[in-house]
Amino acid sequence: MTDLPVVIAGAGVGGLSAALAMAAAGRPTIVLERATELSEFGAGLQLGPNASRRLRRWDALDPLLAHGLAPTCVRIFSGESGREIVEIPVADAQRRWGAPYILAHRADLLRALADRAASNPLIEIRLGREVEGWSETAERVTVHAGEDIAGAALIGADGVRSRVRAGLRLADPDRPVYARRTAWRALAPADAVDPAFLAPASALRLSAGAHLVHYPLRNASVVNLVAIVEDEWNEPDMADVWSTEGDAGYLAARFAGWSADVRGLLAAAPQWRRWPLFMRRPIARWGRGRVTLLGDAAHAMPPFLAQGAAQAIEDADALGAAFARLKHPAAAIGMYEQARVARASRVQAMSVRQGRIYHLSGPMAAARDMSMRMLGPAGMARATDWLYRV
Ligand SMILES: Cc1cc2nc3c(=O)[nH]c(=O)nc-3n(C[C@H](O)[C@H](O)[C@H](O)COP(=O)(O)OP(=O)(O)OC[C@H]3O[C@@H](n4cnc5c(N)ncnc54)[C@H](O)[C@@H]3O)c2cc1C
Repeated sequence: MTDLPVVIAGAGVGGLSAALAMAAAGRPTIVLERATELSEFGAGLQLGPNASRRLRRWDALDPLLAHGLAPTCVRIFSGESGREIVEIPVADAQRRWGAPYILAHRADLLRALADRAASNPLIEIRLGREVEGWSETAERVTVHAGEDIAGAALIGADGVRSRVRAGLRLADPDRPVYARRTAWRALAPADAVDPAFLAPASALRLSAGAHLVHYPLRNASVVNLVAIVEDEWNEPDMADVWSTEGDAGYLAARFAGWSADVRGLLAAAPQWRRWPLFMRRPIARWGRGRVTLLGDAAHAMPPFLAQGAAQAIEDADALGAAFARLKHPAAAIGMYEQARVARASRVQAMSVRQGRIYHLSGPMAAARDMSMRMLGPAGMARATDWLYRV
């Protein structure tokens, strides 16, 4: 029985990390990915020390650092005036939190994970296999994905619109929830932007109902831009919208009151894509029997703490640790959920709260800025200890 592989639905950051963590625990896995090739979509990711520590454990950090960048600080600005409010030092992340803070392209992270997985005999990745359902007996799960695959357990790492989650019926209703915010993402070529934007730092610019994050990527050859705006997205089929092309004119109008240098940065992006942001409501259990969830399938959150991928990586690590300790898959899954549900739910809730704080207006925004100034760099760094020092 224990010879059966664990089947993982989805080869995103979560699924590939889970395969590496399970391999480190000596457990074979089959990763089923519905796409016919590993996706290159997405753009920049900030990976906190809680993520990079685990990537290092799976030998996936060094290849990532070859393209990625370790920033010196996260700088927080007022959007309209362009004045700096405070900065959070992260250059000493290794000393303070035990691992680096890095800026990476999602495609580079996926490649680093996929390369490690490809060279591991315990991991098999099958592309073009969509998990449609499963049946479970006392001894195994049989996963239906065009073919039937017998496994010791099924891990649903199939993203925010998880089919595995739908099949588990853990809550009613239990659908992705639109966060009433849209992320506009672009990459601006380095030669089209003011060199000040190429400094090795992550910038966060706050204003009422919108904020902007930008940082250099890929050895500062591009600047990653993420503009988050509060809005309604009234297209009837939005539940199926992953991303669509965005109209730069709309964004320029939305940020018209901002400083000229930032408007110039936005204008340097050759193309924008907009992503309606979906999240999942926290649930008390992620699985049942031999089946559980991981990553966005379990706890999709808005990206305001830059923790979605990091939490998927934490999940994977905890899953591997549980399967290393306990032989029976259902017991290992119980241990995994025990280790993860409360922490991930807290990060979800804090991400939502952070989004509200970022978009405050008037006197509330002034109070926010004042309290950040009073905390200062050391206080701001201390405030993230709970997130990064795990
Ligand atoms: C604007 C924005 C900015 C972000 N910034 C950050 C950041 O700075 N830091 C950070 O840590 N996170 C960030 N995130 C979040 C992060 O991108 C996600 O949390 C993370 O990618 C989730 O990984 P996952 O593997 O759980 O899901 P996904 O990446 O969605 O992967 C799921 C995989 O499953 C496959 N799949 C789906 N259904 C099936 C099926 N039925 N059968 C087989 N395969 C299936 C999909 O094709 C996909 O490959 C950001 C997100 C957004 C939108």
